[in-house]
Amino acid sequence: MKNELFDTIIKIKGIGPIIQKKLEEKNIFNKIDLLLNLPTGCIDRRYCPKLDQLEVGKISTVFAIPIKYNFPRIRNLPSRVTCKDEYSKIDIIFFNTRENYIKQMLPLNEEVVISGKVNTYKNKFQITNPEYIRTTNKGSDIKKIMSRYQSIKGISDKTLQKIYSNEANNIKQVPDWYEDCFLREMKWVSWSDSIKRIHNPIEIDDINKNSKFYERLAYDEIFCNLLVFNEIKKRIQLIKKNPKKICKKEINLIFKMLPFKLTDDQNLCLNEIIQDMKSEKKMMRVLQGDVGSGKTVIALIAMFLSVKSNFQSAIMVPTEILAIQHFNLFKKFLNNSNIKIELLTGKTKLKNQEIIRSQLKKGEINILVGTHSLFQDKIEFKNLGLIVIDEQHKFGVKQRISLALKGSNNTDVLLMTATPIPRTLVLTNYGDMDISTIKNKPFSNDNIDTLIKPIDKLDEVIDFVNKKINFGDQIYWVCPLIEESEKSKLMAVIKRHNFLKKKINKEIGLIHGSLKKNEKDLIMKNFIQKKLKCIISTTVIEVGIDNPNANTIIVENAERFGLSQLHQLRGRVGRSGSKAHCLLIYSSSISETGKKRLKIMKKSNDGFYISEEDLRLRGFGDIVGYKQSGEKDFIIADPIYHSHLFELAKNNLEKINKIQNKNFETLFKIFKKEKVLNIIDTG
Ligand code: ADP
Ligand code: MG
Repeated sequence: MKNELFDTIIKIKGIGPIIQKKLEEKNIFNKIDLLLNLPTGCIDRRYCPKLDQLEVGKISTVFAIPIKYNFPRIRNLPSRVTCKDEYSKIDIIFFNTRENYIKQMLPLNEEVVISGKVNTYKNKFQITNPEYIRTTNKGSDIKKIMSRYQSIKGISDKTLQKIYSNEANNIKQVPDWYEDCFLREMKWVSWSDSIKRIHNPIEIDDINKNSKFYERLAYDEIFCNLLVFNEIKKRIQLIKKNPKKICKKEINLIFKMLPFKLTDDQNLCLNEIIQDMKSEKKMMRVLQGDVGSGKTVIALIAMFLSVKSNFQSAIMVPTEILAIQHFNLFKKFLNNSNIKIELLTGKTKLKNQEIIRSQLKKGEINILVGTHSLFQDKIEFKNLGLIVIDEQHKFGVKQRISLALKGSNNTDVLLMTATPIPRTLVLTNYGDMDISTIKNKPFSNDNIDTLIKPIDKLDEVIDFVNKKINFGDQIYWVCPLIEESEKSKLMAVIKRHNFLKKKINKEIGLIHGSLKKNEKDLIMKNFIQKKLKCIISTTVIEVGIDNPNANTIIVENAERFGLSQLHQLRGRVGRSGSKAHCLLIYSSSISETGKKRLKIMKKSNDGFYISEEDLRLRGFGDIVGYKQSGEKDFIIADPIYHSHLFELAKNNLEKINKIQNKNFETLFKIFKKEKVLNIIDTG
């Protein structure tokens, strides 16, 4: 369907190549991009004082008659037009404005309407470079309330406002994608009218998140998201696979090999996974659980069962160290079975890689543990029945789709994530997948003490660290997260490293982003082998790293981290259940909210609770991590503020069986989702 909404912005009145370029720098390419960039506030011009009632600093709309010009002949001096009403006078001041233009705009002895901010100069009221001047009979088209936008360098606010206002007023009605009765029930107006009204507000509240115009647009976005996820899910479910044969006997067998009993939550999740594996539908499931909640062992069991059902299994982890750890763990647990496990990473010798590849193809290897090198095209399995992906919280929906379609129809997919996300975000982040959650951990976390310290107590912290090291502990020291250049970040850790080298009389290592991968790996290896007592790092303590002997973590500038991130970092210590410490150091510039946030860390060890609280305190837009991967972003909806709309969308979605409504196409296009759906169609 041809729709002007998707035309490029150059077709908009008032936009030439220069403005086009500036807008494109802000990712505004089409009319729709422009329109969805909603105002950030309003300018209120409703204040119309008489000239004896002016107040400094207020945006005022005044009715006055120009009575005298003053055009100084000296360069750089402003022009002045004195105006009066029946009560008093005001000077209208113009910098860099041509005389003719001023005379034309403010003809002597004719009443005009002038709008701008009032200031004083030498005890006289004035308005400098007024934003609007109209003759009185046209005064009514000075907008009383005007939308305001995030400024764009090189485009005046006035120009920007005008472009928006015109464009919004000019858009045509699009056929609605909701039923009339739903719109009536919600008291919503059409999409076009909602857009129009937000860019041309009549009331100050029109642009607020809770106005009916805003809510309609937010709901559109949420609904569109869920609809797409839902569609992906349905299309993937059409893929038929050979069910895996899993019986009680095998399950009991693996249970006997484990040194512990599963917790109730683990059992529940495992059951859900087994049901999926036994079904004809391809499993697309997320296993979410806090750090240390025991996800790995669930993965291991599932992989074992897949093997017992005559399929191969593979697990992919983000780093080589983690791959080695998993490999060793699996070998230990499956020691008494005849299952063949192999390790494949970027570092595996080429010759061995070749052997592994040929054995995989022949089905001689049952379980493969690896990094992303496992995903190369030249790697072929004889019959891969299950792929597990560990700790990949940056895995987007597009990657998941290609994963689902990769390999054979028989391959079940299990994602494991330790990033606890709030409930509303689960709906939108994993709407295309089924979800299993481990809520309670096998160990209670009261073995980790969290302390909060100001930076001026750094000496105490160092004393503490030295004492811990003397008792045989090992330390993670995470350096300030500075949002400056890579270079200044690097300088900061290096400086910290040099400083701590003098204060801590033991071998300490330094890890940062500019090191090569094998340099990093070496340092981590030395740390795990206890050759290093402390490692200083930027935030890149490798995800999922397990050094059971490191039980103290220090985080500097803790107030700059997302709480979920802090929680992840804290999860590096106390993994064996032994006593651990997490010291959060804050700088003097910490805000009140910042302090509250750190207190949540002290109070709770529950990742889900922490992420909900963080979201509540900071608002969605600020949460580090959620905004990183493109498809998670909401441009209009706010998952905290509009959580009721998420619920509503979820309920309504269940009523729709098929995307038969062809107006959804426009909705998908508005939020750029049509491409996601195309991937599925084209495979
Ligand atoms: P995750 O991968 O979720 O971070 P892990 O699977 O690494 O967690 O488990 C953390 C630790 O708890 C491991 O040392 C693991 O062996 C142990 N563990 C897992 N499940 C149980 C259980 N049911 N009882 C006792 N210990 C467990
Ligand atoms: Mg793990």
